[in-house]
Amino acid sequence: MPNPLYDRLFGVHAGKDTPFLHLPDGEVITHAGFLDTAARIANALTGLGLEPGNRVAVQVQKSPEALALYAASAQAGLIFLPLNTAYTVDELTYFIDNSGASLIVCDGAGEDALAPVATEAGAQILTLNADGTGSLMRRALGMLPAFAPAKRTEEDLAAFLYTSGTTGRSKGAMLTQRNLLSNAETLAREWRFTSGDVLLHALPIFHTHGLFVATNVVLATGGSMIFLPRFDLDDILRLMPGATAMMGVPTFYTRLLDDDRFTGDLASHMRLFVSGSAPLLAETHARFEQRTGHRILERYGMTETNMNTSNPYDGERRAGTVGFPLPGVELKITDPETAETLPQGEIGLIEVRGPNVFKGYWQMPEKTAAELREDGFFITGDLGRIDSDGYVHIVGRNKDLIISGGYNIYPKEIELLLDEQPGVLESAVIGVPHPDFGETVLCLIVPEPGAKPDLGAVMQAVSASLARFKHPRKLILLDELPRNTMGKVQKNVLRETYKDMFA
Ligand code: ATP
Ligand code: MG
Repeated sequence: MPNPLYDRLFGVHAGKDTPFLHLPDGEVITHAGFLDTAARIANALTGLGLEPGNRVAVQVQKSPEALALYAASAQAGLIFLPLNTAYTVDELTYFIDNSGASLIVCDGAGEDALAPVATEAGAQILTLNADGTGSLMRRALGMLPAFAPAKRTEEDLAAFLYTSGTTGRSKGAMLTQRNLLSNAETLAREWRFTSGDVLLHALPIFHTHGLFVATNVVLATGGSMIFLPRFDLDDILRLMPGATAMMGVPTFYTRLLDDDRFTGDLASHMRLFVSGSAPLLAETHARFEQRTGHRILERYGMTETNMNTSNPYDGERRAGTVGFPLPGVELKITDPETAETLPQGEIGLIEVRGPNVFKGYWQMPEKTAAELREDGFFITGDLGRIDSDGYVHIVGRNKDLIISGGYNIYPKEIELLLDEQPGVLESAVIGVPHPDFGETVLCLIVPEPGAKPDLGAVMQAVSASLARFKHPRKLILLDELPRNTMGKVQKNVLRETYKDMFA
């Protein structure tokens, strides 16, 4: 039966004994071997009574079997719902209830705590441990390594992916087969992936970056991955010589640069380094080029849309920008009040439309209606502008916009100035309540290792280049900024911490 997602990403590799996953201990899993496991899991899942369209909520450690569970879900027409391993039982209860999952797959260690949640939700529960053991694989190993794919069309839902919850409660984005396939095939072309590529994969697979961007691109082209359970510098340095490309969040790159063992020689044979999920500092881009000669390729996307823009493979990769809209993706900058498209160069809301854009938030019709326009444009919630050469610049999130005394202040503008000051490694600028101005500007600064920036001098330098209404009210030194697992700065946490500072 036709099942485009399964057929084009997985089925095409049937019977091939080409490598698909290289594990850190040297074991290699071939395409055929991987597909055997997937088919066995698909048999196990349907054996439980699961039917196409049912949701499988998965909170497990990264492992080849966990990835095979994604393949099996595609094959059986189930909706794959991966969940951040950091979520607590309380948080999981929300996702399980909200999604109406029929099956929960969790780590053996979490089973007892989740069992009552599963019972309450009427869901079955199986376990999958980091080493591939547990009740899911016990069932699967007794099954046949062949499974006729469930009939699906590109319009059918393939995954519910919950957003990172950076700005509020996570929302379940409904993604169709077309959403995933179109993006995988576009990115594979744009970034020149081939069957000869070996991707260094150290990202989590519960998030769009590691699951759909990295894995699907490799699957779409028949290459392989060095599949690491997590970002471990020793492993990365040891295994990079066998890779051709790496995808990472900005912190991967800063951590590599902070280690002297990461030399230009070690990276010289690499074809491509991609960064996304959070802004890559221009300084990191420059340091990386200095050390390795490579210009990191930065791209921009989100759970709801997969990837929207990318710097060019050939042509100038411009630091501090996320490049151009991908082929097939329309992108416009609109006025938050009127929804009109703004003149080139002005800052406004980034809206996108294309085959990559999701179907809506699961069981959140109001939120869907507020963010997904009837004409298909999705209001991303990010603010940006397009420069005169067409490069898209992300200015920050609309929710992080500071309105002080009626004036709009874009935190990014101040952050860029702060980051240039001597002794400053990075910064976060937030708005906090103020009795006279509504909100006022508070700057959190992380010093470079061992440095003690002179805050008076920083304040003077920054204020000298900013209009008075944008002047920081106060600078505070922090050892580090609060980040979630994807390396995103949690400004909501900072706003909460400092909300009474001037109130
Ligand atoms: P939530 O929507 O629940 O608040 P989230 O938006 O962080 O969480 P994701 O979908 O994981 O959840 O992240 C997408 C967001 O990440 C984008 O909207 C954008 O703000 C940010 N982002 C992704 N890539 C980049 C990039 N290259 N530069 C700057 N920001 C980026
Ligand atoms: Mg978001």
